[in-house]
Amino acid sequence: MMTKIHVYASSPELAAEAITAAAAFGAQPALILTGNQNPADFAELGFSEIVHLTGANPLPECYAKQIATALRADDSQLFLVPGDLTGRDIAARVAGYLGCPMVSEAFDLAAGPDAIQASRLTYGGAVVQRQQITGRAVVSIAPGAFEAAAPSGAAAPVKTIDGGSDDRVTLVATHPKEQGAVDLTKADKVVCVGMGFSAKEELDTAYRLAKALGAEVGCTRPLAETNHWFPGYIGISGDQIAPKLYFSLGVSGQVQHTVGIRGAKLVVACSKDAAAPIFQNCDYGVVGDLFELTEALLPQLS
Ligand SMILES: Cc1cc2nc3c(=O)[nH]c(=O)nc-3n(C[C@H](O)[C@H](O)[C@H](O)COP(=O)(O)OP(=O)(O)OC[C@H]3O[C@@H](n4cnc5c(N)ncnc54)[C@H](O)[C@@H]3O)c2cc1C
Repeated sequence: MMTKIHVYASSPELAAEAITAAAAFGAQPALILTGNQNPADFAELGFSEIVHLTGANPLPECYAKQIATALRADDSQLFLVPGDLTGRDIAARVAGYLGCPMVSEAFDLAAGPDAIQASRLTYGGAVVQRQQITGRAVVSIAPGAFEAAAPSGAAAPVKTIDGGSDDRVTLVATHPKEQGAVDLTKADKVVCVGMGFSAKEELDTAYRLAKALGAEVGCTRPLAETNHWFPGYIGISGDQIAPKLYFSLGVSGQVQHTVGIRGAKLVVACSKDAAAPIFQNCDYGVVGDLFELTEALLPQLS
């Protein structure tokens, strides 16, 4: 099935993931950029063309109507959008303007006869849902679900169109986050802490192990949402990570968490509960006390 595909992405990294996603349809996608995005940053990723909707408004969502117009003009059949916060917003608005179906957070795509087949998680990650869409469609893809394509090295031609943004919403001010959060989606190694830690001071154990391994520290949802010890967490509703090493301490491994580590190459887990589901999802499992394990390991790692 040959499909004309356009992509919107908020960053070159996500744009490269969308190129891999589009490969399922055997088509080289075109890229749409808006406002103050710089086509030079995306030039050699492998897009057939870059359509830049220019304008002074820096908010990408204010160009949704013009994106829909550009897609119609190019007879594009599929609008693929890596679903970070901006992407999800754009995808929904563009689908609204096009009056076409939309699938969100797809992690696998395939071309069926005259249809697009998309897999996505539902029921908190417990079930994989396969959806089929006919006709023009908007699909947002889960960030990190597709490996970034290697740059083609060839500069894509750039077509500039006056964006004509919808300026009923304008940017008044931006304030950087006070707490510098680590980007776990880019980490090579992650030590993940769970409710096996009952006091914040105990996290020192995890940080010492992480330092010895050269890893970043992440957590399960309750440590972020209930204890407020971390700004974010790993899992279906948090970061989906794909490190070379994921090492969990005091994590039970409920499905909503393990969905977020499906891309991990090597999973090591320690829980004192032998029946913890994490042991169904790990390469090496240690049933025992996380503090004892860490103290035993640290001298071996130094
Ligand atoms: C809609 C929905 C979405 C969700 N999304 C996410 C998500 O994205 N990410 C996420 O993480 N969760 C998510 N959750 C929550 C998820 O279901 C689990 O409740 C959560 O992951 C459990 O976190 P935990 O493993 O840290 O805690 P627990 O399940 O309490 O596990 C703690 C583990 O530590 C062990 N332990 C205790 N003391 C020690 C010790 N001294 N040494 C060794 N082991 C010890 C225990 O035996 C246990 O196995 C979601 C839930 C819902 C309903």
